[in-house]
Amino acid sequence: MAQRDLILMGPPGAGKGTHAEYLEQHLSYAHLSTGDLLREAVAAQTELGKQGQSYMDAGELVPDELVISLVRERLAQLDISDRFLLDGFPRTVAQAEALGRLLDDLSRGQPLVINLVVSDEEMVRRLGGRRLCEECGAIYNVHRDGLDVGDECPRCGGELYRRTDDEPQAVRRRLQVYKEQTAPLITYYQQRGQIVMVDAEQGQQQVSEELAELVEGGASKADND
Ligand code: ADP
Ligand code: ZN
Repeated sequence: MAQRDLILMGPPGAGKGTHAEYLEQHLSYAHLSTGDLLREAVAAQTELGKQGQSYMDAGELVPDELVISLVRERLAQLDISDRFLLDGFPRTVAQAEALGRLLDDLSRGQPLVINLVVSDEEMVRRLGGRRLCEECGAIYNVHRDGLDVGDECPRCGGELYRRTDDEPQAVRRRLQVYKEQTAPLITYYQQRGQIVMVDAEQGQQQVSEELAELVEGGASKADND
């Protein structure tokens, strides 16, 4: 098999969403973002959305059971020949263990984990400047693109907004939650020989090229098979 399923990991603001979109478009990955799925559920005010909203607005994690069942449902819909890309999941060791079991049940191999590495200062700067298109979901940054809330999306003309959890107080909490609950997953996957590190402070194009190279066969360093 040429390509392997992927998990894109990294702190908030590392560029998971941006690079996942690139891999989805250029390498035909099925992109599964738990953050996007949860935001859709909130917008549609489904039962899941109602349960998840307060956690998300505060920058807290949504309870494991809710997120795991969401991912289980989505993975079960995939064809065995589809390659998936998980973005924002797993975020706790319990989620990683549940995912491992889920993939065993589906007779899939274990994914390659790519960890996007950025400094704390850069994370805060990026999240503070992040703006999204309410129509197509494209991600921009005030510092890089000069686009702000209320401006038109260059791609589709939709209006740009700022995520509630990109406000400073929620950003601080998300970084803390990342360090306490998600960063331990790096060791978890290192012990399993499944993870590679990518410097995500390079230019976006450089990171994209490095990712493409990794997934198109160069990932032997973390490859156990
Ligand atoms: P970011 O990576 O920029 O923090 P996401 O879009 O991945 O943003 O997630 C936004 C919010 O959605 C999180 O702060 C959390 O409340 C919730 N969320 C997303 N994925 C998970 C997950 N795997 N487990 C628990 N909560 C999650
Ligand atoms: Zn748009």
